[in-house]
Amino acid sequence: MKESYYITTPIYYVNDKPHIGHAYTTILCDTFARFNRLLGKKVFFLTGTDEHGEKVERTATSLGKEVTQHVDDMVVHFKQAWKKLNIQYDDFIRTTEARHKEVVHIVVRKLLASGDIYKGKYEGWYCVPCESFWSDVQLADKKCPDCHRAVNHYEEENFFFKLSNYQDWLKQYISEHPDFIIPKGKRQEVLSFLKDPLEDLCISRPKKRLSWGIPFPDHEQFVMYVWFDALINYISAPGYSVKKETFSSVWPADIHMIGKDILRQHAIYWPIMLKAAGIEQPRHIIAHGWWTIEGSKVSKSRGNIVDPINMAAMYGVDTFRYYMLREASIGSDGAYSEELLIRRFNSDLANDLGNLVYRSLSMGERYFKGVIPAIDPQTIVHPIREHAEQLGKKLEKAINEEFDPRAAIGAIWDLISDANKYVEDSKPWQLKKDTSKEHQLREFMYTLLEVIRFIGIALTPFLPETAEKILFLLKESKVDAAALNTWGVLQPGRTLEKGQPLFPKIEDTQ
Ligand SMILES: [Zn+2]
Repeated sequence: MKESYYITTPIYYVNDKPHIGHAYTTILCDTFARFNRLLGKKVFFLTGTDEHGEKVERTATSLGKEVTQHVDDMVVHFKQAWKKLNIQYDDFIRTTEARHKEVVHIVVRKLLASGDIYKGKYEGWYCVPCESFWSDVQLADKKCPDCHRAVNHYEEENFFFKLSNYQDWLKQYISEHPDFIIPKGKRQEVLSFLKDPLEDLCISRPKKRLSWGIPFPDHEQFVMYVWFDALINYISAPGYSVKKETFSSVWPADIHMIGKDILRQHAIYWPIMLKAAGIEQPRHIIAHGWWTIEGSKVSKSRGNIVDPINMAAMYGVDTFRYYMLREASIGSDGAYSEELLIRRFNSDLANDLGNLVYRSLSMGERYFKGVIPAIDPQTIVHPIREHAEQLGKKLEKAINEEFDPRAAIGAIWDLISDANKYVEDSKPWQLKKDTSKEHQLREFMYTLLEVIRFIGIALTPFLPETAEKILFLLKESKVDAAALNTWGVLQPGRTLEKGQPLFPKIEDTQ
């Protein structure tokens, strides 16, 4: 029986160093994973690297390196990036690992036995950079329809996966499961793609042409096609058929998070592979948009790469995470702009959040010598209390039902604005002058600090470092679902830390 929350990034192709696109997918998954950990779920967050294929082999050769050395070197870039971006994954799978190859072989043997994989003759065109085969009709002016480069003619024996066996099943499955592919536009795209008959997928490469791949089981003269091997990572990491108990406690995956450019592989090949192997389907495949810079997709070939590590180093990890999560909604593309990042920083982080925390702690210091005032929290009646108490449910809906981190962040910032307004409306500086208002002042101070505690906990999945700082200032260590949903956790009489501004403003140098 499944008891966990399983979320995956795609495994990243090691021919690229991590760029903003990789960072975005991974930050999204990290946020979802952290949120569900906060709810008390047993989370399994998987990421990793896709290391086979012709492109990797050729790059290694051009660098004068052994392929194994080249991929080892590249993996370091990804692991470092995730460390710098504060990504808390549970497992990192590399497709060159023995545990992965073992499961690939199990799956392929199963599909060979069932007849879903068969040997046939391939004739057509091949684009080396895209690692894609094309038929005559698919070619655009005799060039690759994806990258418009020249293609080579090929005729060879290969193994094929009979996608057509399951086309009708897949159409029906997608129709019956409206949340299988998210967002709706992408689901529609897959359904219209499925209107035409699916061609069987060529899943092997002759070894004489490509040696850098997983050997095809029982047919040593072939290696596996990189996509077919790569998709299997989602079940090889939790140990399909090898570690049966672990696997069944994790699978099916709750979310495969992907960029929209790999939708076909995840929404057509992968479900059919699972179906053919008799494995349950993942719950949701979420295809997010691209980050664009001046209107074009961020990619290595276009040279418009934003280095996420540089950005995080310059502006802080949480600023970068905040910007990514706040600026893009999952269904559409985000336009990256450093200027906008600075503006968001100054208004949302420095002004709204940073000032709120700083002025609250300062008032606590000034009015109560830095001690949380004595009061029974349950006697406090104020709309802002209800607002804080509802925040957890709002986040749960936004993240786990609507898959919308932007809405979740919006809900936290609503409470932040409300808290700032609460200070203005309560006018504590006047209460302080009037000794008959002493109780009111205590009530005000406790309420404000308790609301900040809610904000601190709510921020842990999104801005983990900032959340930790806020909770440190309050000397608060309870970080769980109960703490997120219960009023009155902050202990009267406790001494607060003296605050420093969380986000000193960035001067506009332009
Ligand atoms: Zn191409």
